[in-house]
Amino acid sequence: MSYKKKMKFMISTAILLSAISLVFSIAAAGSVLYSQNKGSSSGEIISQKLSSTDTANDSDVTKVQQATSPKDTSSEDGNKTTEVEQQQTETKQQPVTKPVSPKAKKIVYLTFDDGPSKYTNQIVSILEQKGIHATFFVIGNQLKGNEQKLKDAHDAGNYIGLHSMTHNKKILYNSGSSAKFIKEFQKEQQLVNNILGYEPVLIRAPYGSKPEIKGKFLDDIADAGFKMWDWTVDSKDWYYTGKPDRILQEVKRQVDQDTEVILMHEKSQTVEVLPKIIDYLHNKGYAFAVYKPNQHISVNFAKDERL
Ligand SMILES: [Zn+2]
Repeated sequence: MSYKKKMKFMISTAILLSAISLVFSIAAAGSVLYSQNKGSSSGEIISQKLSSTDTANDSDVTKVQQATSPKDTSSEDGNKTTEVEQQQTETKQQPVTKPVSPKAKKIVYLTFDDGPSKYTNQIVSILEQKGIHATFFVIGNQLKGNEQKLKDAHDAGNYIGLHSMTHNKKILYNSGSSAKFIKEFQKEQQLVNNILGYEPVLIRAPYGSKPEIKGKFLDDIADAGFKMWDWTVDSKDWYYTGKPDRILQEVKRQVDQDTEVILMHEKSQTVEVLPKIIDYLHNKGYAFAVYKPNQHISVNFAKDERL
């Protein structure tokens, strides 16, 4: 072999070898990611902080961190905000020119309670404009006449969770037993199934799970097959009527963990401030995630990993 040929051979061998090793490392990374997502179905709650002077019931703030942070980020095109689609199987259209960000470890879940309402469409459309999705906890007694809103929110890629039929504190909690609570959620589950064709399992207890839901109450919810989310950040939008800036301030003050679940409501001040909140979180490096039952993380004040 001539010197030239020898060099050619060596160079092509080197290229081939690096190509092979690249393929192997991609495959290895893929399987690690897959096993991580499979391995840990629920997050580990590592610390808790209580917010100071809330007079209302939505006052507890539990900090959670996922045992496994989702690793893949999908950067959407230019103007749109990053959203994490944690589902491995999902074949979402992604711009090929943008590399997967290695630091997709800050995840935020936006959640909207008490719909469907006259604000649902506006919230869904803001999310759409920003290229992200959120989780809605809807009230069963408000579904009638709002079926289309629910469908639209769902079809846009948002998750529809349950928030009881009545949202009535006395009915849900005064007995101390879980019977009425669970009955309401089961009824609502059927109603949503009639509209959307699937039974949501994720619930949010009206006013949060603390202090009413504990002990056997928790067992009963788990036995009924529900998952229950509280939140890590209370935007206090329920309190700051007509004061959208205070809501943004509240979010800025509280957001600091790698995984955050933000409590919001379908209210006019929330609609007003929502684009700013999204932009703020995006600039802080958060990717936006929507609840996926097969990638459930545990976010409840009781730190009950079953829920
Ligand atoms: Zn509520």
